[in-house]
Amino acid sequence: MSHPNGLPENKFTDLLMQVIEFRDQQITPHVVEWEKTRTFPANAIAAASELGLLGMEISPELGGLGMTFAQKLKVLDVLSEVSMPYAFSLVNSHNVAARLARHGTEDQKDRFLEDLLNGKKLGSSALTEPGAGSDFSSITTQATPEKDNWRLNGEKAWITNAASSTVIVAYVQTEPGARARGIASFLIDGTKAGFERLAPYDLIGSHAIGTGGFRLNNYLASNADLLAPAGEGFSAALATINEARTYVASMCCAMVEASLRTAIDYASERESFGRPTIEHQGLSWQLARVANQLEAARALTTNAITVIQGGDNEAAILPAAHAKKFATEFVEPALIACTQAMGANGLKEEFLLGHRLTAARVTNYVDGSTEIMTDRIAKSLRSTYT
Ligand SMILES: Cc1cc2nc3c(=O)[nH]c(=O)nc-3n(C[C@H](O)[C@H](O)[C@H](O)COP(=O)(O)OP(=O)(O)OC[C@H]3O[C@@H](n4cnc5c(N)ncnc54)[C@H](O)[C@@H]3O)c2cc1C
Repeated sequence: MSHPNGLPENKFTDLLMQVIEFRDQQITPHVVEWEKTRTFPANAIAAASELGLLGMEISPELGGLGMTFAQKLKVLDVLSEVSMPYAFSLVNSHNVAARLARHGTEDQKDRFLEDLLNGKKLGSSALTEPGAGSDFSSITTQATPEKDNWRLNGEKAWITNAASSTVIVAYVQTEPGARARGIASFLIDGTKAGFERLAPYDLIGSHAIGTGGFRLNNYLASNADLLAPAGEGFSAALATINEARTYVASMCCAMVEASLRTAIDYASERESFGRPTIEHQGLSWQLARVANQLEAARALTTNAITVIQGGDNEAAILPAAHAKKFATEFVEPALIACTQAMGANGLKEEFLLGHRLTAARVTNYVDGSTEIMTDRIAKSLRSTYT
């Protein structure tokens, strides 16, 4: 949970400098190699625990840093500048720890929290299935009650960190056909019998997210593994969705800002027809358009952050949808404009523009697709603008 006061400003500034140093030494040199070899950098994610980044928003009493939501987003932005997939993986593991810290029983915290905070274990949240994505209520992974246990069967797909996570919040159906009313969530131990990890996907990029799936084959969960009972799982899953949509929007802004800086530097050095290319109006106007949209995306994101930090989740639904829709729709054309401004050199991997482009594609699906954001806004039209 976000902490109202967070880290004192001077402490946070110091930490941010350390995050930049960590990023430049332990992430930036490997981003291209991870992509080429389709590596899920579990060790590099665990290494972020040295700075406490796997417990950013968790209270210090439970071993976290006690940051505000806005502070967490600044850290994620710094990481996203070089690898949004890395930042996304990290925050997804963090989210499982945060959920346990907030809603877990003492036993659940004892079993998993410390290892999630020190990176010995990674976390995932598993809603999506091969046959159910946007329509979360239609999941069919089945939890059947038995005398002392629940028997879980089904398959999850497109799960961040599934390449190696072992602490998984899995959403299941307890009553076929009951949709949201029957959804519960369990803490799944990825080392136990009945858990079958599937091979991570070969994608167009962003392999550092470690996206994959798993099957539950007669997996036995006890009542001690129950996180949200039937009827509460659906709302528990969506309780932090506005925050997720807002950090995805913020990550888009970070990727564009880093690319814009690179493009401006390049176009200030590169000459054509006797002057720096940025002095050709045809080129500088393209980058001005990127800057203009970046400012708009940042403003929407800042608005969503402010509402979220105000603590009213209901009031945050629309600001988060506006921020994510705008940011995920502008990020790809903006990155392409930056690449174009660098001529053929923009295609070189070392500039990370291609890496960011595939990550930008990913932002259009995670935590609610762009169409679902549009639908959310559309459904509010009559109540908002009458
Ligand atoms: C890299 C990556 C990481 C992910 N990580 C996770 C994770 O950690 N946990 C997890 O549970 N899931 C995760 N997902 C899955 C993600 O949440 C889903 O991709 C998303 O919910 C969309 O579901 P879908 O891909 O099945 O598309 P579908 O729901 O099948 O939709 C297909 C298309 O139809 C559109 N569509 C659907 N319904 C409507 C509608 N009502 N109106 C208009 N258009 C509509 C969609 O926007 C989409 O364009 C991840 C996905 C990716 C790509």
